[in-house]
Amino acid sequence: MNCLLKVSNLKAIYLVREGTIKATDDVSFEIFENTAAAIVGESASGKSTIIEAMTRTLPPNGRILSGTVEYKGKDLLKISEEELRTIRWKEIALVPQAAQQSLNPTMKIIDHFKDTIQAHGINWNKDELISRASEKIRMVRLNPETVLNAYPMQLSGGMKQRVLIALALLLEPKILILDEPTSALDVLTQAHIIQLLKDLKKKLNITLIFVTHDIAVAAELADNIFVIYGGCLVECSPTFEIFKNPKHPYTKGLINSIMAINADMSKIKAIPGDPPSLLNPPSGCRFHPRCEHVMDICKKVRPPLVQLSSGSKVACHLYEEGGYRR
Ligand code: ATP
Ligand code: SF4
Ligand code: MG
Repeated sequence: MNCLLKVSNLKAIYLVREGTIKATDDVSFEIFENTAAAIVGESASGKSTIIEAMTRTLPPNGRILSGTVEYKGKDLLKISEEELRTIRWKEIALVPQAAQQSLNPTMKIIDHFKDTIQAHGINWNKDELISRASEKIRMVRLNPETVLNAYPMQLSGGMKQRVLIALALLLEPKILILDEPTSALDVLTQAHIIQLLKDLKKKLNITLIFVTHDIAVAAELADNIFVIYGGCLVECSPTFEIFKNPKHPYTKGLINSIMAINADMSKIKAIPGDPPSLLNPPSGCRFHPRCEHVMDICKKVRPPLVQLSSGSKVACHLYEEGGYRR
């Protein structure tokens, strides 16, 4: 499989009055062409920070300390703003978290499409714009005649999410990144958006990277799952493998918590303790204060991400290259 995007040793922080929030700490992963990758973790674990650092869209108090994001032989973190503009939207499009709120309530949907092309220096005439916008609106299974002339407030949450996906597809990117595309939607609408993304991936040969706090959503759509805990990537596995044989103690806890829906409730065990503060994260493995397998080394040394023979990668001292530590 062809590696399309390679993130290596990405570190990002936020500057706050109390110090620095270590929100993305040495995160590395690869995205393969025409696959869907899910970045999964609980709230405030640093999922959005990874996306924002990769796409250079961090808020003003965010800083990238180190790392590379390789795409077509270039490091997206090093190229000029001008060069980045030729890649954004045309090659890599992003639907940020809570993007629905960024739709301008005083502008019709067609004007959002117009703004998008203008922002990317494209000069389509009115007919071309309407034709291309209609094509994309149809692709997300909405009716262009009603939707393009509507104001955002006239659309439901699910329709707005589809419009945002259509906008992101306007310039036919190779990679579509979506931050929490299904949160804040009811379960049925969530299912429709997941099915839509599956169909688009197949039809357009597009590569998807999406963020979700819900591992069940990841299971539906992703080929590979990246589990984030306390700003660190703790496991990176093919989806079937993560459900069949989760490796990291935190991943096991996550899987256990969703199995609750179908399983014998007496077997459900919540992960004890609270997520770590990223202002003063625990030393060594950030999961150590909550881990039932904790060893001395876990408190002192950060576990490296190692490749296992099963195809998973895991950052935990219980493992070494290949499999379990002997
Ligand atoms: P959620 O599921 O709630 O969207 P997340 O996993 O996307 O969470 P991030 O938004 O990346 O998490 O946040 C990671 C950490 O960085 C959290 O501790 C959060 O409070 C902090 N953080 C995020 N944005 C900022 C900011 N602009 N300034 C300071 N701290 C921030
Ligand atoms: Fe638990 Fe140690 Fe593995 Fe961390 S490194 S998950 S503390 S066993
Ligand atoms: Mg987020």
